Amino acid sequence: MSDFDFDLFVIGGGSGGVRAARMAAQRGARVALAEARGLAGLGGTCVTLGCIPKKLYRYAADYAAAFDDARGYGWQTSAPTLDWSMLKRRRAAEIERLNGVYETLLRNAGVTLLLGHARLLDAHTVAVSARHADGSTTQQPWRARHILVATGGTPHVPHFHGREHVITSNEVFDLDPFPRRLVVVGGGYIACEFASIFHGLGAEVTLLYRGEQILRGFDDEVRHFLAAELAREGLDVRLRSGVVAVQRVADGLRVQLEDGAALRADAVLYATGRAPNVAGLGLDAVGVAQGPLGAIVVDEHFRTNVPSVYALGDVTARVQLTPVALAEAMALVDHLFGPPAGAPPRSARYDLIPTAVFTYPEVATVGWTQEQALQRCDRVRVYRSVFRPLRHTLSGRGARTLVKLLVDDASDRVVGLHMVGTEAAEIVQGFAVALRAGATKADFDATLGIHPTVAEEFVTLREPAAVLQRLS
Ligand code: NDP
Repeated sequence: MSDFDFDLFVIGGGSGGVRAARMAAQRGARVALAEARGLAGLGGTCVTLGCIPKKLYRYAADYAAAFDDARGYGWQTSAPTLDWSMLKRRRAAEIERLNGVYETLLRNAGVTLLLGHARLLDAHTVAVSARHADGSTTQQPWRARHILVATGGTPHVPHFHGREHVITSNEVFDLDPFPRRLVVVGGGYIACEFASIFHGLGAEVTLLYRGEQILRGFDDEVRHFLAAELAREGLDVRLRSGVVAVQRVADGLRVQLEDGAALRADAVLYATGRAPNVAGLGLDAVGVAQGPLGAIVVDEHFRTNVPSVYALGDVTARVQLTPVALAEAMALVDHLFGPPAGAPPRSARYDLIPTAVFTYPEVATVGWTQEQALQRCDRVRVYRSVFRPLRHTLSGRGARTLVKLLVDDASDRVVGLHMVGTEAAEIVQGFAVALRAGATKADFDATLGIHPTVAEEFVTLREPAAVLQRLS
């Protein structure tokens, strides 16, 4: 008889935790999963406060452009108005439905679901506290062979005067009333996405970024192109712009900027990065090594310095993306319990991660930026096209699309693929397979386009716009 109640105890019901729990249970392991936010937390940030509600609001915002564009095609429409309360209600109902789907998936897989806050007592013991109707709490200790911490992250807001007046992506979905004037601080995924979404929904949006250009880490040309497109759409994008203080005033909030200017806003959204969720987990007591902001340090098998304790996903603050957490979870389960019958063990790979920023227009990318390519290849052929998509010939919108390929001249391999334009994410997903398979420019050239589409541009780029030498 085993000394352990469970083979795997997962702390956190987000993307990585749920996937690990389900896969391990399907492999025959005895698995428990604890979620501190109760059933409403199942699915984690992605489902409850991230990717999914964000994308629903993105769809809502995109109708604004569609209504506008339709006029160029002969549709006579009166000015549509947004029922913000209805959108919030319908989003909340959909998220609740998804929480239920996650619960069913876990229960059907045979995972024991424990709703309460979990804390490590020692290297093999987790206590889960449950709050009762009379306000009391009890703690139940569970023994597990392996413990997986998959608690995700939470928005990180720097210290400044008036910090208590600002909101984060956790609160933005349920703002009441709709913010007529929104100031967004940050220049990463979340700042750019919400600035663009709320602009589409009808708010007057100012995006404040402290650096030279938004979306640091993306291809420089993509960053500049997106900033220009956001501005063309009517967003007030201010670079090298920092906040000194936020004050509540009679007509909302006053945002004092470093350059002496001040803005008025109904809401100020800080999207200045995320910090790992490690508070109250008992990591210190067990001696789990942590890095900056408390991120759990793991090896290539997601093992911490405490051999029975593992961690993956955002709590390790490596690549904060749902598909990465899912891949990590499957690799961990294969490592701990063996791969599915007849299959080789999976490992998480961190090269060629396709990613998108759901702005209007969208950004999507896979592979190296031009800057990275020039650090790794002797000669890089750059193919690009900037054009007005067919859709906007009649819509009258001035939107342009950017497609860009980076090719290692020596091997002819396509090492980077970037797009800014409508449906960029849907298009780049397919090309990510080509890059993973090692496609060369010759393979792209030999591929027929689907005409007329935007995506065909990627296979009809004939002459390089530039041939660049490695930076010495
Ligand atoms: P990011 O790390 O992407 O961006 C943070 C931004 O805030 C940067 O522009 C950064 O500037 C700025 N910043 C940081 N600290 C300060 C400060 N003290 N004052 C002013 N500005 C500051 O974080 P996000 O919060 O946008 O998103 C977190 C992660 O979530 C992303 O990295 C991504 O992995 C994931 N995500 C993915 C999405 C997707 O796949 N579509 C959508 C949303 C999130 P600087 O560049 O100068 O450091």
